[in-house]
Amino acid sequence: MSSTLPILETDSVPAGTGERCSPHATPGILDVPIEALRGWLAERNHPPMRINQIRKQILANRATTFEDMSDLPKGLRADLAGTHRVFSMSVERHFAASDDTHKLVLRLADGRMIEAVLIQDDGRATACISTQVGCGMGCVFCASGLNGVVRNLTAGEMVEQLVLLRNLTDANSTNPERAQRLTHIVVMGMGEPLANLDNLLDALAVAGDKNGLGIGARHVTISTVGLPAKIRKLAESGKQYHLAVSLHAPNDELRTRIVPTNDKVGMDAILAAADEFYEKTGRQVTYEYVVLGGLNDQATHARQLAGLLHGRRSHVNLIPWNAVEGLPFKRPAEADLQYLIDTLRRSGISVKVRKRKGSEIDAACGQLRRQAEAALGGERSQ
Ligand code: SAH
Repeated sequence: MSSTLPILETDSVPAGTGERCSPHATPGILDVPIEALRGWLAERNHPPMRINQIRKQILANRATTFEDMSDLPKGLRADLAGTHRVFSMSVERHFAASDDTHKLVLRLADGRMIEAVLIQDDGRATACISTQVGCGMGCVFCASGLNGVVRNLTAGEMVEQLVLLRNLTDANSTNPERAQRLTHIVVMGMGEPLANLDNLLDALAVAGDKNGLGIGARHVTISTVGLPAKIRKLAESGKQYHLAVSLHAPNDELRTRIVPTNDKVGMDAILAAADEFYEKTGRQVTYEYVVLGGLNDQATHARQLAGLLHGRRSHVNLIPWNAVEGLPFKRPAEADLQYLIDTLRRSGISVKVRKRKGSEIDAACGQLRRQAEAALGGERSQ
């Protein structure tokens, strides 16, 4: 079985030209439990230290096949190739923008698709990864949740996304703008990360390990719709992850219209959990605010939002809406966006407007997967 990944360097791939792996049940080796792997090796008279060698080859040395793992005995490499896979997923589509942003549509072992993005800028290389197939939160402006959630990703599937994106960085780069490895992770792809927190923490532990990808907790941002119990659990993990809460509205009535899960939770509970997160970790919380023209960007919203966040050690990330085909929202008018920025700043709140990267890859998160699925002729329903 080949572990070679078909990488398609194009921004428009007609359906069916990409090499595909048929759905199969074999997990990637990063998802095989250590005990099982140890047993498998022992049956063939190999010492358990081979496990670390294999992992290091994938995580640090960029091996993409067992054959690449030159510090393993040849026979073992062949046995591994016959029974295991380096990666459980394959690259269905690869879009590369002129600013070196890469977007991958990845086909999982069960045939489902997810997205992962690499953003390269200012000597940073940031991986944006998915945590679920689809999303169950149903935010009305977002493409990822249009068909609900299918399943959680495993820890290995999250690490694989990181490795595949890292393999797109240039290990020999001499350009100060381009990092030679991943420096940051944002958990802002498809899915609700805190609905899959255990697997996410396992994956981030591998990412943070110096024998893994070496990306420390302070360089990891986890974005959530706001699940208070899970925010507390994250704070209790004792790790210095950065928390971003998707607020998107300054009052419950409007937030529930935009983020339906707000109905059961309410903003007070979310803000209280976020305040606790700050107290426990010392890490300032970011509030994300998708700016939907005419809906949540008017002067009253600006003043209400400033009032809500005033006095909280927080930061606001304004994200002008990225259009999603078929959804009835608008990007904000320049003057409304500016008023929002000025009002928040006057209240002493730090504000940034999210830059658009890879904009010629004309699709907001979650849409590429849908386009790929549509091009594949409804072969998958999700
Ligand atoms: N479930 C997590 C991660 C979602 S993606 C969460 O709710 O935070 C990260 C951010 O992108 C979220 O704030 C999400 O609301 C926002 N987002 C999703 N679709 C968008 C779109 N079409 N335009 C702008 N922002 C979007």
